[in-house]
Amino acid sequence: MSKPEFYCVGNWKMNKSPAQAAEFISKLKEQAKPEEQSRLVVMPPALVAFEVAQQLKGSSLRWGGQNSYFEAAGAFTGENSPQILKEMGAQFCLVGHSERRQIFGEADDLLAKKVQALQGMGITPILCVGETLDDRRWNRTQEVIVRQTRGGLQAADPTKPMWLAYEPVWAIGTGEVATPLQVEEAHSILRKALKEWSAQTANEVPILYGGSVKADNARSLAGINNVNGFLIGGASLKVDDFLSIYRLSASPAAV
Ligand code: PEP
Repeated sequence: MSKPEFYCVGNWKMNKSPAQAAEFISKLKEQAKPEEQSRLVVMPPALVAFEVAQQLKGSSLRWGGQNSYFEAAGAFTGENSPQILKEMGAQFCLVGHSERRQIFGEADDLLAKKVQALQGMGITPILCVGETLDDRRWNRTQEVIVRQTRGGLQAADPTKPMWLAYEPVWAIGTGEVATPLQVEEAHSILRKALKEWSAQTANEVPILYGGSVKADNARSLAGINNVNGFLIGGASLKVDDFLSIYRLSASPAAV
């Protein structure tokens, strides 16, 4: 892996039908220059991924899954495997988004298996970590995000691509954004945790920030040390918003 560039990853969550996704991609292909396209990733719902994969052909835009199980195949009703994602052309997959941790009860040991299985299939896992409001109030942010990082990476291969996303749970979908100081502190803690995991490759792992990123805060967040990209939920659903966040982050404000 080479030095991190700035990326914007759009997590659509359970939004957009295949037709809406096709309209989005066609507009994004029209508006984003090829060099911009290569820095953008969309994450559609699993059933919409086929349509997205077809629409992305011939562009440098990439897509990823929002979730994957770790087994290759079998009696796991409702799940998708890294093998399926790979064949469909996914290059990334979220692991441990806070909605998966909180709503679906996913814990670090399971997430570690997902990271390992995805890397094994040549898909880049984006491991999400972040503290709740209570964790922050009780000064447990560092403990929580380091534990989630170590836990999620316990079986990971440092020689294979892997991304991290810092997403304070209290900032996701709430309109509340972490302050530049909070983001800087968390990302520096994470970089340190990555160095303990793999001194050789830690600096090459992009660390994304996620949590109510919008056009009006993108420039200041993008300028923070160790922020190598954004994971964007709500504001990734409209092409204009998604692209303007990327463009604003390309000329970050000095922090
Ligand atoms: C997310 O879903 O990962 C996210 C950060 O959402 P939002 O941008 O809407 O806060």
